[in-house]
Amino acid sequence: MRAIIIDAPGNVRVGSVPDPTPHPDEVVIRVEACGICGTDLHLIDGDSPLARYPLVPGHEFAGEVVALGDNIARYSGSEAGVKVGSRVAIEPNLYCGRCESCRTGHENLCFNYNAIGVTTNGALAEYVTVPASKAYVLPDTLSLREAALIEPLSCAVHGMHSLNLRSGDTALIVGAGTMGMLLMQLIQRGGASRVAMVDLNVQRLARAEQLGANRTYKNIRQALADEPRGFNCVIDATGVPAVIEQAFMAVKRGGKFMMFGVAPSDASVSLSPFRIYNEEITVIGSMAVLFSFQAALDLITGGIIDTRAMLTSALPLEDFQKALSQVRKGEGVKTLILPNA
Ligand SMILES: [Zn+2]
Ligand SMILES: [Zn+2]
Repeated sequence: MRAIIIDAPGNVRVGSVPDPTPHPDEVVIRVEACGICGTDLHLIDGDSPLARYPLVPGHEFAGEVVALGDNIARYSGSEAGVKVGSRVAIEPNLYCGRCESCRTGHENLCFNYNAIGVTTNGALAEYVTVPASKAYVLPDTLSLREAALIEPLSCAVHGMHSLNLRSGDTALIVGAGTMGMLLMQLIQRGGASRVAMVDLNVQRLARAEQLGANRTYKNIRQALADEPRGFNCVIDATGVPAVIEQAFMAVKRGGKFMMFGVAPSDASVSLSPFRIYNEEITVIGSMAVLFSFQAALDLITGGIIDTRAMLTSALPLEDFQKALSQVRKGEGVKTLILPNA
């Protein structure tokens, strides 16, 4: 089958790999749509500490079940019941189930963490094998392209659970990429009184306003000019250390500062410990997904998230390099690859 192959950091191509066969408890998915995200860029650039090469990337996907491994019958009739022909989205994180984190309800912090498309071959391919327990059957009303947004949304939902937004809070989101846009919509509809967004890209700011942001700014200084005391919740969705330092200045007394963007693993920032103490600022991390995949599926099915404005490009596998350059340039919001188009 055709697939995107990262042979080594900096070396990515459209190539051919053997068709997958399912092991016991696994199913084979014919991939309809797979999103490209920042994690894929990290994998291609070689700055993901978890990556194992050669690798087929792709972890934000939906498709149709085309083959079942042994044992799958025992899933049928259950919530996770899948059969040949089921339309599904996949939770890509693979937890060991045995370590201290897994056994204390923090599976996203698994000490033996793996993920489809990061440490095992992913969905930027015609077919991918996944554990049946990770497949979520979709309602007929939901298109498979929309369903490719469930995975990034499930990360934003986990962020919302950790942020614990209070009704009436003001919020500032720095970075109007896919994650920033999803978080903004959740915070907007979650009871915030005002949500502001910062991004350098004016097209993204226009789209953020269209999706419901109350105010948009090209930098944090401008946002602070309008809200001199800062915001109750400030979320970094850039992962850029210099931006994180500036965003910290926009946290109100008693406020919360969430690290959502993926900074380089060896980066550090300078934050005032006196302010954290004296102004009782809470710093929060949010990593991947924790019991938030079904919630994300339900939010998209319920029309709470505007998927049409989010899905700005869909290209065949052969156009991967073009798709990659769109993502690197920050054109549009979510770029999808359609491996079987
Ligand atoms: Zn992603
Ligand atoms: Zn574990």
